[in-house]
Amino acid sequence: MPVNTKNDSVVSVKPVFLPWQKPFLEQLKSLHQRKRLPHAILLSLPGEEDNTGFIWYLSMLLLCRHDENSRPCGECSSCQLMLANTYPDFKLVGLEYDEKNKKVNKNIKIEQIRELIHEVHLTRNYDNLKIVVIYPAEKMSIAGANSLLKTIEEPAAHVLVLLVTHHSGRIPVTIRSRCQQWDINFPAQVEALDWLQKQGMQSDESGRYLELAEGDPVLALQLQEINFVDQVGQFKQLFAQYLQNQIDVTNLVQLLKSTDIALTRRLVSMVIKAYCFQFSGLLDGVNANTTPGNKVAAQAMTGLLTQAERQLMIEDNNLDLQLQLEDVLISVKQIIISNR
Ligand SMILES: [Zn+2]
Repeated sequence: MPVNTKNDSVVSVKPVFLPWQKPFLEQLKSLHQRKRLPHAILLSLPGEEDNTGFIWYLSMLLLCRHDENSRPCGECSSCQLMLANTYPDFKLVGLEYDEKNKKVNKNIKIEQIRELIHEVHLTRNYDNLKIVVIYPAEKMSIAGANSLLKTIEEPAAHVLVLLVTHHSGRIPVTIRSRCQQWDINFPAQVEALDWLQKQGMQSDESGRYLELAEGDPVLALQLQEINFVDQVGQFKQLFAQYLQNQIDVTNLVQLLKSTDIALTRRLVSMVIKAYCFQFSGLLDGVNANTTPGNKVAAQAMTGLLTQAERQLMIEDNNLDLQLQLEDVLISVKQIIISNR
């Protein structure tokens, strides 16, 4: 997830986009050229990766003085100011780093939204569009979201309010209904594989990694960089030892945590999913062989998965990760043992 995206603290952001984001950029630019840009957009992005670079790119595209270009020129005064993060009519509000608590805030605070609203109503510095962005928009507090309603309902002239999220379902319906909604999805498999191969991934690996990343090409690439397939293998071995009581759960979690927290979460989620499939017979594609006992176990596993995902995949929970992982893995073991 993106963090620390308050633009005061961002030194410079590299504007980037991915091929499957291009149709959105083209439509956006065309609307701007025809002066048909909506005043409030809710942009929903797939995956979890930080897309600050993409937000920078699309903002530069809209603000570029060379309006006829299909990409920002990178040379005009607007582009130069955007590249230096000093464009006065562009503001990005995100999760701030709390110096006192030495961690990133869990929510975008109402004060930040108020500041942004104030910004919206100030006279613009240039004869150009003013862009204010909230990202990740689902992290707005309820009070913050409510305070924004009037601003997106009664827009100021020449202002684009852009809400960007990876979880549009978590955006209050009052906000959603007042914005024009755009969704960017993962590319089709063929396009994703093609992109991965252009990034240097071997064709025999790209399919495997794309599958592990559940269709997210950027994640697939990240997983390959950390040699995730090998990590899955190691985890399976450790997990087998744990099932045979050769190592205890505390040990298992400590061995897992030596990698990376996000990765650990993904591994645990994957192992639960694998057992869900196994119990439901889907792993072999032979549903007929599913016994009633396995069906119950599969249901228990699915329930556990939902619970574990809620616990482990939400990064802003307060519980200790070690304990959470232990909790989940103990439950997984109980289900497996009782269904052998
Ligand atoms: Zn330019």
